[in-house]
Amino acid sequence: MKAVALISGGLDSALSAKIVMEQGIDVYGFTVAHVFSESIKSATSSYAEKSADELGITLHSHEASRDFLNIIKYPKYGYGKNMNPCLDCRVHMLIKAGQYMKEIGASFLITGEVLGERPMSQRRDAMNIADRDSGLKGLILRPLSAKLLTPTVPEIKGWIDRDGLFNIQGRSRKHQFMLAKRYEIREFSTPAGGCLLTEPNFARRIKDLTKFKSDFTLNDIELLKIGRHFRLPSGAKVIIGRNERENNKLLKLAGDKMICIEPQSVPGPVVLLGRNANNEDIRIASLLCSTYCKKAGASMSIDMLKNKQCQEIKLERGERVSDKDIESWRIA
Ligand code: SF4
Repeated sequence: MKAVALISGGLDSALSAKIVMEQGIDVYGFTVAHVFSESIKSATSSYAEKSADELGITLHSHEASRDFLNIIKYPKYGYGKNMNPCLDCRVHMLIKAGQYMKEIGASFLITGEVLGERPMSQRRDAMNIADRDSGLKGLILRPLSAKLLTPTVPEIKGWIDRDGLFNIQGRSRKHQFMLAKRYEIREFSTPAGGCLLTEPNFARRIKDLTKFKSDFTLNDIELLKIGRHFRLPSGAKVIIGRNERENNKLLKLAGDKMICIEPQSVPGPVVLLGRNANNEDIRIASLLCSTYCKKAGASMSIDMLKNKQCQEIKLERGERVSDKDIESWRIA
């Protein structure tokens, strides 16, 4: 008998897979990678990969970044505390995991959800919605809270012994840490680890993006992850690199879709500006560039690249932007 376990890299999903494996079920891991989950990656591999390695199971990774753009723009069930459309996201993950389940001839899904642990997607009614909307009602086993939930097909049919499942609920993690010791699970990320959509600063950036550019792309999301971000009075967007690594990345992501500003006579940041920016926006962006140079306000020469044409801008000593303006234009 085969089952597919959603593996996030966190403790709950690893425990849930392990509990079912202990009952003699052949478990296959499934994880969803997307543009907002980048920060959960370690230097060498994702936490989900490490978790699957420790469990000794194969891991199928589904890339969902493009689907995620639509989920972010039009979440049927809205957002959580920040810009996290968790319930829509869960439904999407379950649908994709369900497709994988059918593909490999598995009989049910396992998730690490714990009743009441997260306010948006782990309420009883939210779980019922996820079961219904994914078309997998009765086929999603949540081993950590199963004894508090309606028995699922694998329990009813006796594939799984309900007595070997748990009745954990709430935000306290003490039961899970005890189980981690019992099952000798050591590789896991922090709870809710690393989804950028739950971070307030990133949420402010993406809220601003949805307001000014409803047809945003994956490239726009990558740009949100680096630099300082400003919205000028005209509505033009400015991004300023904070170090050499970010400057290089900004140049790469800019392509010929943006206006690029870079100081030539002194070391300083790369500044990107939306291609439709007007002359006043370009002047402000040049002043911002000067303001964030090591020698802020020094006389300097700046290169401005627009539509593959380079133009030199000269700034006199003392030309810079006031702190008040910077604060009023800052997005996050
Ligand atoms: S925290 Fe992020 S990845 Fe996790 S369910 Fe919510 S939106 Fe999806």
